[in-house]
Amino acid sequence: MNVYADNAATTKMCAAAIKEMLPYMMETYGNPSSLHSEGQKAAMALQDARERIAARLGCQPDEIIFTSGGSEADNQAVLSAAKFGMEHGKKHIITTAFEHHAVLHTVEALRADGFEVTFLNVHSDGLVVPEEVKAAIRPDTCLVTVMYANNEIGTIQPIFPIGQICREAGVLLHTDAVQAVGHLPIDVKLENIDMLSLSAHKFHGPKGIGALYVRRGIPLHPLIHGGAQERGKRAGTENVSAIMGMAAALEEACDSMNRTSVYLTELRERLIDGLSPIPSSMLNGSPLYRLPNNVNFSFAGIEGESLVLLLDKLGICASTGSACNSSSMMPSHVLLALGRPPELAYGSLRLTLCAENTQAEIDYLIHAVSEAVAELRHKLAGSTQIHL
Ligand SMILES: *Cc1c(COP(=O)(O)O)cnc(C)c1O
Repeated sequence: MNVYADNAATTKMCAAAIKEMLPYMMETYGNPSSLHSEGQKAAMALQDARERIAARLGCQPDEIIFTSGGSEADNQAVLSAAKFGMEHGKKHIITTAFEHHAVLHTVEALRADGFEVTFLNVHSDGLVVPEEVKAAIRPDTCLVTVMYANNEIGTIQPIFPIGQICREAGVLLHTDAVQAVGHLPIDVKLENIDMLSLSAHKFHGPKGIGALYVRRGIPLHPLIHGGAQERGKRAGTENVSAIMGMAAALEEACDSMNRTSVYLTELRERLIDGLSPIPSSMLNGSPLYRLPNNVNFSFAGIEGESLVLLLDKLGICASTGSACNSSSMMPSHVLLALGRPPELAYGSLRLTLCAENTQAEIDYLIHAVSEAVAELRHKLAGSTQIHL
């Protein structure tokens, strides 16, 4: 049996996205900046996509900037807030230790430029406590950036109270919502979010396209200089077909969200119940405040990479955690941030589902993971004996 259980790394494109993209590659391929009618048709398509995406986030179309994906949106949001802060003598940033590297490495680069960074405790369940955000805010704080949902352990952060705290304190709030958009209901105005990053390939849209929501009045700084596209905030000819695919995928994800999340929660609980009896295993992240499609376990005494490779032989696509870590033999920074000892952090397995997964696949996953963990431990016990 073949099971794709790595939907936090990327998803299969939905038919609606592909269908919407094709005409913009085959017929309406004009440059949206061109004056002629073919160009203007493309420009109108862009506007249509911008309106449809804004409607799903609860913002205005002119508050959406198209980017090459989640990483670029994260970089632009954090660097813009830092530049704005610096202009006002504010060089303190609050974030968490378990952000995606697109935020973490950007913040670390700012540290080298003299910014001070507070890394909030995420506690053993992977959740930030809003009161601790409040306590960390200083007169020179220019940005709070806390991810909406974690890509490794699926925890959903209390963004609503954090948004209230930031708005009252007059501090900008950015959230990396790449794992949340299309999966959880989001309303940027209601939640007092100033900037939000999203990426199409995490909700069954195309790769290489994303967006940054920026509340009106917040000065955005371009990372890419050149033409006047995206109102001068992001130069370069727009990827019209990908943008249309992103709009179609987002609409489909939002329209089916209630149904999908009920179904996925059922699958997730079945999987967690099935894996929990494995000896010396531990669920990572909150059992309650958790993405409907995320399961993340640690198995003491084994290496996550070996487990992923063994599962691959059994037809299963899984991950140790973040796709960006999977080529380096480092324990996950997310699991270390939760205070997991290295032997548990090394032995992590992330299984992330989508609506195409079936109960029979879940049962196969439970069987295969249980066998694979036992086999790796058996081998390990054998090699220990040889060393003795
Ligand atoms: C995938 C991901 C990103 C990066 O998005 P890309 O579009 O692949 O650049 C950023 N943050 C989170 C939480 C992600 O899961």
